[in-house]
Amino acid sequence: MAPKRDLSKPLETVSFRCNPCRHTFDAEPLRVDEEPELEHHPFSYVAECPLCGEEAGQAPFHKALVKAWANATGPRTAAGKAAVTKNIEGHPTPEESLRTRFNAMKHGMSAETAQYFPSRPGKYPACSSCDVDHSYCAQQPACVKQTQLFMVHHAAFEQRNPKHLTPIYSSIQASITAIIQQILQTIIADGVKLEAPAWAVDREGNVVIGEYQDIATGQTKRIMEVKAHPLLKPLQEFLSRNNLSLADMGMTPKAIEQEEQQMGKLQPGQGQPSTLTLEDFAAKQAESLQALKVLAERANARKQRDPVLIEYQQQNGDGQ
Ligand SMILES: [Zn+2]
Repeated sequence: MAPKRDLSKPLETVSFRCNPCRHTFDAEPLRVDEEPELEHHPFSYVAECPLCGEEAGQAPFHKALVKAWANATGPRTAAGKAAVTKNIEGHPTPEESLRTRFNAMKHGMSAETAQYFPSRPGKYPACSSCDVDHSYCAQQPACVKQTQLFMVHHAAFEQRNPKHLTPIYSSIQASITAIIQQILQTIIADGVKLEAPAWAVDREGNVVIGEYQDIATGQTKRIMEVKAHPLLKPLQEFLSRNNLSLADMGMTPKAIEQEEQQMGKLQPGQGQPSTLTLEDFAAKQAESLQALKVLAERANARKQRDPVLIEYQQQNGDGQ
């Protein structure tokens, strides 16, 4: 049986987007269609656009939010669902409570999100690539995308399951890795050491380049200041804060040595002393093999005395 999903009943209000006139709005669905292939929430919605009267479908950002919410809430296995049903007992059913919670949570979260990210369409760096209609966002108390982030985090923390945040953090981690690569490429292109002429401002306010006369050759030489590439420091911070150092990845000689020492010891089984070394194990195994040899010899001797076998061997002229 396929595990039942949360959000298994239709939503009461949905964010719609009209394709012809690009209007985005919240409304009760006019029509709910079943979409069995959408496992997390098997419904699609239609509403009439209040501006142009055309049929509008669920806005893509809202679809994505429902999916993220479905991932972040509720047990997915039948056993987990049974446990939740037992906890709640009576009404509302887990599906009903999660369904109403989706809208309630969205409502409550936008107020909380507004403290940090009030709706300012076009003003945040992420706005340029955001798929939420700016005029719709302007009517909301908080940035729609940030509200979604808050919702999914709250759900994951309520469930005490950081696994639900994996999709978000894998994207962040990929972005961080991309930034580290850009920093590296920039440093390599520029050189780790940067040289610039030494300069100062004199009393008259003129910029003076530092120069001196080489006594041996009589030539004028420019004083150069040498600096480490300014991106080296952020690079180092990125690497250490992301636990990407050689030690973190088990690539230092010390880490490898410790791992190899660990490999010589077997993991303790239940009720066994925890310090069974590989040598002890080998000795035990040799002991068992010895015992097995004795058993095999005894069995063989018994077989040789088997009257049926003896008769068979005599009939076939096989005295052995
Ligand atoms: Zn329209």
